[in-house]
Amino acid sequence: MTKPTDPILDWLDFFRDVGVTDLSAASQEQVPAPPALPGQPKPATLSLSAIRADLGDCRRCKLHPTRTNIVFGVGPENAELVFVGEGPGENEDLKGEPFVGRAGELLTKMIVAMGYKRQEVYIANVVKCRPPGNRDPEPDEIAACRPFLERQLDAIRPKVIVALGAFAAQLITGSTDRISLLRGRFHEFRGIKVMPTFHPSYLLQSPSKKKEAWSDLQQVMKLLGKPTPRRD
Ligand code: SF4
Repeated sequence: MTKPTDPILDWLDFFRDVGVTDLSAASQEQVPAPPALPGQPKPATLSLSAIRADLGDCRRCKLHPTRTNIVFGVGPENAELVFVGEGPGENEDLKGEPFVGRAGELLTKMIVAMGYKRQEVYIANVVKCRPPGNRDPEPDEIAACRPFLERQLDAIRPKVIVALGAFAAQLITGSTDRISLLRGRFHEFRGIKVMPTFHPSYLLQSPSKKKEAWSDLQQVMKLLGKPTPRRD
């Protein structure tokens, strides 16, 4: 379960990790307004609640017998920023919510460092049921679940999708390249900007990669018109 966090401490904690010392820039830097992004009208019937209703007590792939809860996704339907991870782990499966536990705490710090509250962004996964033993999701499972993620993204039409880790990045960009090659630049999903970056679980194992992840998130912040603190 995610511990209650202090947004200010999270903000400071994440910046210390990535080597930012000049926090005054966060409130002083003038960032140009983001360019207008292509939008598409949302069909009247396309809503998150309708998609969740269609999903039902899903048994479309072999992950269903071992799950406790379907982890559909959380956040507002009008979120301008969406994060997509890989799949639920043990804590997520028990709670029915994505990104709880240690990786979730780090994701919350990343979101806060970007100038958002966690509840202002939408968070989902490539597969909505926990792969047993936290193994990687398999191609048939991803194929069965992907239409629902795609419909969620179509319903929300965010300005930016941050794809966390290889599975999300490859699914959303349509590339088979490694995450280390995909990250660091924008891609597109149906006219929506996509920034792949490292998964928080990987960042917990390889803290030195947080600087690269922060660089990716700063590009997203610039696009969204958020102030970006400078490193000295
Ligand atoms: S992972 Fe997706 S497709 Fe498979 S059972 Fe769960 S909700 Fe259905």
